[in-house]
Amino acid sequence: MIKALTFDLDDTLWDIWPVVERAEVLLHDWLAARYPRIPERFTPLELRDLCEEIAATRPEIAHDRTRLRKDALQLAATRTGYVEFDVEDAFAVFFVARNAVELFAEVRPTLERLAQRYTLASLSNGNADIRLIGLDDVFSFSLSAIEAGAAKPEPPMFELACRRLGARPEQIVHIGDDPEHDVRGAANAGMRTVWLNRNRRAWPGGPRADAEIRSLTELEAVLVAWEAGDG
Ligand SMILES: [Mg+2]
Repeated sequence: MIKALTFDLDDTLWDIWPVVERAEVLLHDWLAARYPRIPERFTPLELRDLCEEIAATRPEIAHDRTRLRKDALQLAATRTGYVEFDVEDAFAVFFVARNAVELFAEVRPTLERLAQRYTLASLSNGNADIRLIGLDDVFSFSLSAIEAGAAKPEPPMFELACRRLGARPEQIVHIGDDPEHDVRGAANAGMRTVWLNRNRRAWPGGPRADAEIRSLTELEAVLVAWEAGDG
């Protein structure tokens, strides 16, 4: 019996990269007005690359996208000679814009219907805020890599989800776009898996998901078939 559904967020419920790029440009403009030496020295992409540099040298915080962004901004400020730099204000500009996402059209109606039958939760490696995005009415709770202390496909976020849901892994279906983070991670945790493949990509190899869909509208039929099969 299926008790709960867990969803990835970025690239599963909305396209994330156009939103991140817009947020990076808005932050860059904000910095130009207050700390101009930073945007003179670093393009938006170079500021993003700083996050990856920090992640590579500090694996213990590599799962924490918020921490990486803040540390990258602070590093950029230091390297351009700003002693006084309000990293929290700067990050807030990015964070608000990063959460101004546009849901794929079928997302809200599908989640509203599913929430009548199952407990829904979100499991994200990113720092999306479902309250800012306006999905806190359909999700019972949200877990991020920051709270779990590790990113998918590592086990902690899936294990924490089971505890919070009061369900065994085999009673949970995880839905996501990433073959590694979502499908392999959830399958290793013992959950059933649905690969949301909106762009008709080829499966990269390894054990496939239990089901593959191109849009969330196909999810309900998959669940009905599984429930019928479970008897
Ligand atoms: Mg994703």
